Amino acid sequence: MSELPPWFFPVFATLLGLVVGSFLNVIIHRLPRGESLSYPPSHCPRCGVAICWYDNVPVLSYLLLRGRCRHCQGPISPRYPLVEAATGLLFLAAAFKMPQLLWALHAVVLASLCVALALIDLEHMILPDALTLPGVALGLLLAVVGGPTPLLHAAIGTVLGASLPLAIIWVYRWLRGVEGMGLGDVKLLAMLGAFLGWQGMLLTLALAALAGALVGVGLIVAGKGSRQTELPFGTFLCAAAVVVLFGGEKVAAFWSWGQP
Ligand SMILES: [Zn+2]
Repeated sequence: MSELPPWFFPVFATLLGLVVGSFLNVIIHRLPRGESLSYPPSHCPRCGVAICWYDNVPVLSYLLLRGRCRHCQGPISPRYPLVEAATGLLFLAAAFKMPQLLWALHAVVLASLCVALALIDLEHMILPDALTLPGVALGLLLAVVGGPTPLLHAAIGTVLGASLPLAIIWVYRWLRGVEGMGLGDVKLLAMLGAFLGWQGMLLTLALAALAGALVGVGLIVAGKGSRQTELPFGTFLCAAAVVVLFGGEKVAAFWSWGQP
């Protein structure tokens, strides 16, 4: 068998990421609305005309159509090409950063789940079980078959990820009579624990809490929010999980916690 050229794997991963990003767009739009993922085929939400394959090429079609539907000239959300480009870049990062195929697979599965969950939580303030629960199973499965996270760390991460926010919810309810976190966050943290192990999950939670607090204070200072303003914490958790996934050792070293 002849050797593949060195550019093959990164280019293949990026193209695959663009296509997966296109499918993530379908999930992000349809899943929270309770629509089928396979039927009807892609159509313009404004005029309802089906989108031809050549108008559905990731990123490229949006640029060629200048962000407008070919039929009704209605605007297409820039979220579509941005999600595709971001997913392509995350797949490229996985191809470069991960030393073996199973590790790269682990990275792209988690990154894809995080892209979908981050945007759904941002728009709808929900984290669908249809993504988080299979996510827990996938994370544990990848640990069983020899992924980067040892099985014991993944198992402890899942249990701790689910119980820590549950404890926060109970304490909040007892102290203030309000929900500090949603049950969606419980399942998301269990999923992140399954993928990143308990250390990675705790690091993710700390980063997300810090980022959430900074954004919250920023909104109050900018006069765009108050202490009651609800922020999509799942979006912060997903963004933090991607940072920990690709730079976990560096982040941990920065906080002098040693190797995660
Ligand atoms: Zn249209």
